[in-house]
Amino acid sequence: MISRQKLKRLTEHTWLFPFDSPKDRPNLGYICGKSMSLAVDAGHSSSHVKDFYAALEKEGLALPDLTVITHWHWDHTFGMHAAHGRTLLRPETNQKLQQLQAENAEDPSWKTRFLTSDPSVREEYSGGVPLVIVPGDEEICGDRDIDLGGVTARILYTDSPHTDDALMVHVPEDRVLFIGDAQLGEFPSWRMDFDKLALLAEKIRGIDAEIIVDGHWRPYGKDEFLGEIYP
Ligand SMILES: [Zn+2]
Repeated sequence: MISRQKLKRLTEHTWLFPFDSPKDRPNLGYICGKSMSLAVDAGHSSSHVKDFYAALEKEGLALPDLTVITHWHWDHTFGMHAAHGRTLLRPETNQKLQQLQAENAEDPSWKTRFLTSDPSVREEYSGGVPLVIVPGDEEICGDRDIDLGGVTARILYTDSPHTDDALMVHVPEDRVLFIGDAQLGEFPSWRMDFDKLALLAEKIRGIDAEIIVDGHWRPYGKDEFLGEIYP
């Protein structure tokens, strides 16, 4: 089946493959420089990756050389085994993925529990889409700037109420910031740690960005976003 989502251009160097709630697919970011391209998050499964890459090819854009993972959650990471190029993530994210990979390998019921955990997961993995969990290729230990050729991807550590392994990607030339699910509460309780939310809001306030792209909604203006999460 052809994906209903189309690639959206945000700015000169940035694009968005939009979220798809019935399949719990998050927004996937894409930044294209003269020498390299970089994706933000791998996606929910190989099927998600396939749809994203088909959309890139349709626009004549290169498959990503690098994919930065914003946090360990399955809808952002279980497509990693199908990612083109190298995947970059925090050591905490890698540890969590290695743990999930081991649980899946050791306990035959783990996969069934995961696949029946939510209708959106069932929908994403329908039609025999394989469940494959892999660790990342390279651990990022602290903030890092990557020159993609005429445009920079600034990979930034941040506090987040959602998980303890959050990365954001800032594109200073285009004033775009990709944040994954960083502003959400903890899963599955959705408990909100307001101290961590305040630190996140402060961090975002200090970044020169005009457009904020989170995990599961349309892009926001920065003031609009901050007004919503931390008025
Ligand atoms: Zn998440």
